[in-house]
Amino acid sequence: MDLGRQHTGLRAEMLAALGRVCDSGGFILGSEVTHLEQQFAIYCQAKHAIGCASGSDALLLALMALDISTGDEVILPSFTFFATASAVTRLGARPVFADIDPQTFNIDPEHVASLVTPSTKAILPVHLFGQAVDTAALAEIARPQNIALVEDAAQAIGAEVQGRRVGSIGAIGCFSFYPTKNLGGAGDGGMLTTQSDDLADRLRLLRGHGMRPRYFHSCIGINSRLDSFQAAVLNVKFPLLDHWTFLRQTNADRYTELFTEAGLHHTLVLPETKPGMRHVWNQYVIRVPEGMRTPLREALTEAHIGTEIYYPLGLHQQECFRYLGYQPDDLPQTRRATEEVLALPIFPELRAEEQKLVVERIAAFFATRSGGHAIQPPKFLTRRSVTSG
Ligand SMILES: *Cc1c(COP(=O)(O)O)cnc(C)c1O
Repeated sequence: MDLGRQHTGLRAEMLAALGRVCDSGGFILGSEVTHLEQQFAIYCQAKHAIGCASGSDALLLALMALDISTGDEVILPSFTFFATASAVTRLGARPVFADIDPQTFNIDPEHVASLVTPSTKAILPVHLFGQAVDTAALAEIARPQNIALVEDAAQAIGAEVQGRRVGSIGAIGCFSFYPTKNLGGAGDGGMLTTQSDDLADRLRLLRGHGMRPRYFHSCIGINSRLDSFQAAVLNVKFPLLDHWTFLRQTNADRYTELFTEAGLHHTLVLPETKPGMRHVWNQYVIRVPEGMRTPLREALTEAHIGTEIYYPLGLHQQECFRYLGYQPDDLPQTRRATEEVLALPIFPELRAEEQKLVVERIAAFFATRSGGHAIQPPKFLTRRSVTSG
C-alpha cells in the first residue's frame, strides 16, 4: 500500500487544516471533532457518532457501555484482528469464538446460534475485509434473548447490507482510522456509532474518565478522546471516501476479470460480493492451494509486490488465549483460512498496469509449478464433513 500517492494531492489542504488547529489551541475534541462526528453519523445512517482514540478503544468503550464484565460471554469470530477479542478479556469477560463462512470469511450465524448460553451478553461480529456480515441472521439470534449486537466495522466504513450502512444496525458500531483503513488518519483514531440517546451519552461519559461535571465521576471511564489534529486530517479526507471506495471496487472487479482471463479462477478462490451487499474492499483476499502460499508470496516479494496474510493464526490458536482451552481444529474453517489466505494490493491509487503485473506474476508462478498438470484448488470444508470424519 502506497499512502504517499493519496497524500501528495492533499498535502497543502491537510497542512492548512493542521495549521488552523494549531492556531486555535483546541487540541482535544473541539470543533474539528464535532464536525467529523456529525458528518460521520450522517454517513453511517446513525443518530450519534462519538470520536475516541482508536478502533481498539471503540470496541472497549462499546462493551463498557453495555456493562460487560466478569462472568459474561461474548461471541465473536476467531478469524479477526486481536483487538476484537482483547476488548472482551480486558473487562474480565470470556470470548467465545465462532467459526466463519468460508465464502465470505465472516462469522457463521449457524455456529453462533449453537454457542449461545445464559451467560451470553453480546455478539460481536466483524465486517471483515470490507464486506458486511449477515446482520439479519445474527439479529434473529440476539433479539429474542436480549443479547446486544456490537459491530466491529473497523474495516468496513460505508459497507451496506440491503441498503443499511454498517454501524447503524447493532446497538453500537466501532470504527478505526488507523492509516491503512479505508478512511485513515495520520495516526490513531476511532469512532463509535449508535441510534440510542442513552448509549451515546454513556459513551461520551466513558471516553472522558466518567467525569461530568469536571472532577466529579459517576462511573469509571477511561481517557480515550479523538484529538483535533486527527479530526482535521480526517475532515479533509472524508469527502473523498466514496470516490476511493469506487476505485477499490473497480480494482476488485479488474482483478477478478484478469484472473479469469488468465484461467486462474480454477486454481485460486477469488473473493466475491454477496447479493444485497455493498462491499468496500478494505482487502482483496484470495485463497491459494495448500503448500503454495509461501513460495507464491516469495515470488511476489521478489517482484516488489507487497502482500499480507490476514491472519496467520486464528485468535483461538494464539498463545495468549491458550487459557481458554481451544484446540486448533475446533474451528476448522478458521484454521483452513489461516493456511490459504493472501491479500493483494487493492488501495485506491493502484494502477491498472500494476494489477496486470500482479496477475502476470501469479500466472507465471503457477505455470512453472504445474508442469502442465492441473493444480487442485482449495476446497471448502463443511462442518458436517468434519464432525462425521
Ligand atoms: C484495525 C482493526 C481494529 C483496531 O483498530 P485500531 O484503530 O488499530 O485500534 C479492530 N478490529 C479490526 C477488525 C481491525 O481491522
